[in-house]
Amino acid sequence: MDNAPFADANRVIRQHFFSLIDALSALKSLVTLEGHHQNEHNLMAGVLDVLLQHQDLERCSIFVLRNGLLECSVGRDWQDLTSSTVGEEQLRPGRATLTFRVGEGLIGQAAETGKMQHCRNCSTDERFKQKGAGGSAPTSGSLICAPICSTEEVLGVVNVYHPEPDFFEIWHEHLINLFCDILARILENNRLMRNMEDAVRERTAQLENALQEAENLKSRYEQLSLVDELTGLHNRRFFFPEAEAVLARAARYGHPFSMLIIDIDHFKEVNDTFGHAIGDSVLRDISAELKKAIREGDIIARFGGEEFAFALHNTPLQGAHLLAERIIKSIRKLRWSGPAAAVRTTISIGISSLGERRSADNKSLLDELLRQADVALYFCKSHGRDQCTDYISVESQSDEAGPGEG
Ligand code: GH3
Ligand code: MG
Ligand code: MG
Repeated sequence: MDNAPFADANRVIRQHFFSLIDALSALKSLVTLEGHHQNEHNLMAGVLDVLLQHQDLERCSIFVLRNGLLECSVGRDWQDLTSSTVGEEQLRPGRATLTFRVGEGLIGQAAETGKMQHCRNCSTDERFKQKGAGGSAPTSGSLICAPICSTEEVLGVVNVYHPEPDFFEIWHEHLINLFCDILARILENNRLMRNMEDAVRERTAQLENALQEAENLKSRYEQLSLVDELTGLHNRRFFFPEAEAVLARAARYGHPFSMLIIDIDHFKEVNDTFGHAIGDSVLRDISAELKKAIREGDIIARFGGEEFAFALHNTPLQGAHLLAERIIKSIRKLRWSGPAAAVRTTISIGISSLGERRSADNKSLLDELLRQADVALYFCKSHGRDQCTDYISVESQSDEAGPGEG
């Protein structure tokens, strides 16, 4: 019996079996590609590598459809893969400029119809359109152009080429169709993922901007909360930590330090006589006058109502007296115009000085100095106003007066 026909049939079946294994391997590799690529170009390059590795193909490429134009995204030759250093840099940049209009050539027709175009011999098929520089495009052989169709549109076209005419069989067509179906899902997911990433990036940037604006607003409010709105001077909240820092420095380096508490005399009468609005403008002008008197490094604040505090760096008791006298004179000379023309104001100033005192607790020391300046201020108030005095003088006077006379 002649076994030759059975042997041939057996060989063909084995060949088909191996082809089937290759086809399944290609599809499996394609599926594992998903999610491993940051950009579409790299993803396509991986896809083509898979096709060339598992199939007996000479050349393949993917054209992506953008704004009605099919643009070569990536093209690969078998030689690219057999080279030891296959990488993105080896994707030929020249091909990236190759484009086809929808409907133009086999590629264009695949995109237009959404159906695979199988060209059995490029040199005789009229649909085949020679394009591309340097003879890189095939002139003979077989070519399959298969559309990559998402649920709604054609995303691009996969082209596979073999130099032999009439090379591709029906199962190649099935494989490439299946391949394109999977590729379409992968591309869709990839684009969706990148759109989401872009949206997240944009949202993150918006949030960062909003956060920055909030920070700016916060520091603006913090700034505002340290400044008295009416006079533009700092307020108590600013005064305490700043004055404490100046005092601490003075105590550490043995520099003199003094404090003034200033209160406008009979200010209630100004309000009562001239009205609150004029009272406000008088307060503002007195504040401006006080501000002129300080040097850089001194701290001035509106303590509340018509009361102000000075923390004077590098200023001994005598210097504080001279400054207080000068301020009293300058306020006395202040004049207004219009309905406030008859306003006259004076101020009283209580003084305290650090002297030789030192303490580990500068906050308590500052409180003590403020209290002493307050005592001196009320001495002024009860002795005719429009004057200044210091705590030591007040104390020594009360000592002289003796017990029972205070
Ligand atoms: P003394 O000489 O004893 O300090 O008398 P005085 O009238 O200045 O003191 P008193 O504490 O009796 O009154 C303070 C006045 O300061 C009463 C209040 O209406 C006025 N005052 C406090 N803050 C403001 C303000 O922001 N604007 C105006 N216009 N007046 C204010
Ligand atoms: Mg007052
Ligand atoms: Mg007062």
